[in-house]
Amino acid sequence: MGTYFKDLFGGTWSLIVGLAITIKYFFYPVVTVQYPRATLKMPPRFRGHIDLVADPGTGAPKCVVCGMCQRGCPSGCITLSGEKPEGAKKKILTSYQLDFTHCSLCGLCVESCNFGAIDFSKEYNLAGPSREAYVFDLLTRLKERTTNVDNDA
Ligand code: SF4
Ligand code: SF4
Repeated sequence: MGTYFKDLFGGTWSLIVGLAITIKYFFYPVVTVQYPRATLKMPPRFRGHIDLVADPGTGAPKCVVCGMCQRGCPSGCITLSGEKPEGAKKKILTSYQLDFTHCSLCGLCVESCNFGAIDFSKEYNLAGPSREAYVFDLLTRLKERTTNVDNDA
């Protein structure tokens, strides 16, 4: 009989404590995000996959096609190419592919670029049905971003 009342008291007390915590937090501001309808702004040091950086004046890639990032990547994720138009002094970037399936986000490519032409994106919303979905055409992504900025302006 003693155990019965002890269990009854213990169960009731635990229920009261649980309800008290629920009621207390009911009046606190909501801290959860209603993902995917709402998303968080990533902190400055967050590392998403790399992205090309545009020249703020022209909107063109800052990349000078030196190839340092490609050579510096230990996982062979980067494939790029460029060409020198007739009469031009510098090469222009014609293709920049990132195979994100092998990327360890080590940052060696970003560090090896002396022109500030690549940086980590804030992209974390990634999902895809196949490995091919994670091979990114960064030049096209940059063009889409700069077009969207122009359209928003
Ligand atoms: S290191 Fe920088 S400038 Fe050189 S190819 Fe890579 S992104 Fe372009
Ligand atoms: S972060 Fe590292 S693994 Fe990823 S592309 Fe750059 S160098 Fe390669």
